[in-house]
Amino acid sequence: MKDYYQILGVNKSANKEDIKKAFRKLAHKYHPDKKNGDEEKFKEVNEAYQVLSNDQKRSEYDTYGRVFSGGGGGAGQQSSGFDGFDFSSGFGGFQGAQGFEDFDLGDIFGDLFGGSRRSGSARGRDIAIDVELSFEESVFGTNRSILIQKNSTCDLCQGSGADEGSEMIACPTCNGRGRVREARRSLLGTITTEKTCGVCYGKGKVPQKKCTQCQGTGVYRKEEEINISIPAGVEDGEMIRLSGMGEAIPGGNPGDLYAKVHVKKHSVFQRDKDDIRMDLNIKLSDALLGATYTIDTLDGKIDLKIPAGIGFNEVLRIRGKGVFQSKSKRGDLLVRVKITMPRKISKDARGAIENLKKEGI
Ligand SMILES: [Zn+2]
Ligand SMILES: [Zn+2]
Repeated sequence: MKDYYQILGVNKSANKEDIKKAFRKLAHKYHPDKKNGDEEKFKEVNEAYQVLSNDQKRSEYDTYGRVFSGGGGGAGQQSSGFDGFDFSSGFGGFQGAQGFEDFDLGDIFGDLFGGSRRSGSARGRDIAIDVELSFEESVFGTNRSILIQKNSTCDLCQGSGADEGSEMIACPTCNGRGRVREARRSLLGTITTEKTCGVCYGKGKVPQKKCTQCQGTGVYRKEEEINISIPAGVEDGEMIRLSGMGEAIPGGNPGDLYAKVHVKKHSVFQRDKDDIRMDLNIKLSDALLGATYTIDTLDGKIDLKIPAGIGFNEVLRIRGKGVFQSKSKRGDLLVRVKITMPRKISKDARGAIENLKKEGI
């Protein structure tokens, strides 16, 4: 993982102004048009700035160590709409952070960077969702179906954008080249750049008759049911990645879907790596004489033998009833013994205990 703070040479508490200043300084230093420029470093600095200068991206980065450009919150939330596509640049999703968008500096940089835009294969945005699990579900694994509103590959034309039986013809906008030229004026003179054709999305061909459902884009916004298989032993805060289940994009590959797991606290059990911990209250007489307790575990009722003379807070281990480490291997259930002391004792009991005392117990 890249440390964006380190790249810009600022600390985690840096404010927007600090970040902007650090970025300008480094961008000037490394800009590829400069004599001693360094394109790689420049790109890195730019990527770091794109994330840290944007409140939402920065908070995602601080929380998850990466950025979910399409990031919705809960499963029910809508991710960014059709308008979110950046048809012109050929960037989408994570790659957006590496592109040269979002410039608002209003100075020489806007011009210079506009000319530096490089093309890449388009990729749809990633989607982030949250999945809440019970403690039991996190131990044994489960499946979740989630309804999500997103841009998907059009099922009518299978993403081709063509109406049934329609022929493909050369794109009239780019004359079948898939790319178009664009001239920009900057302080260094006119810079001519090439970019992916926004009409054919770089394919050079368009359908003679467009698909009626997706209007020729190959992408259609709909509610989709997504099944997420959650493995046994998943931990709170873990991310499950569903490759290609993010937003689809015309002329590119869909992004990924990330499900962040939240495990609810249990009133009895606590997780400790692959083990599960619980407390058990026993009677004083059982602690002295030993006993068998039937306890409720995640695997049902289990008889637990309490050895005579057990002490307060001693831990008994029930093997193989913890969290799954693999399909066949499990951690243990650790039972910590608490002894309930009597508030009042009878005369007979007092006599018996005084006898113990005489024995030096
Ligand atoms: Zn279609
Ligand atoms: Zn075209």
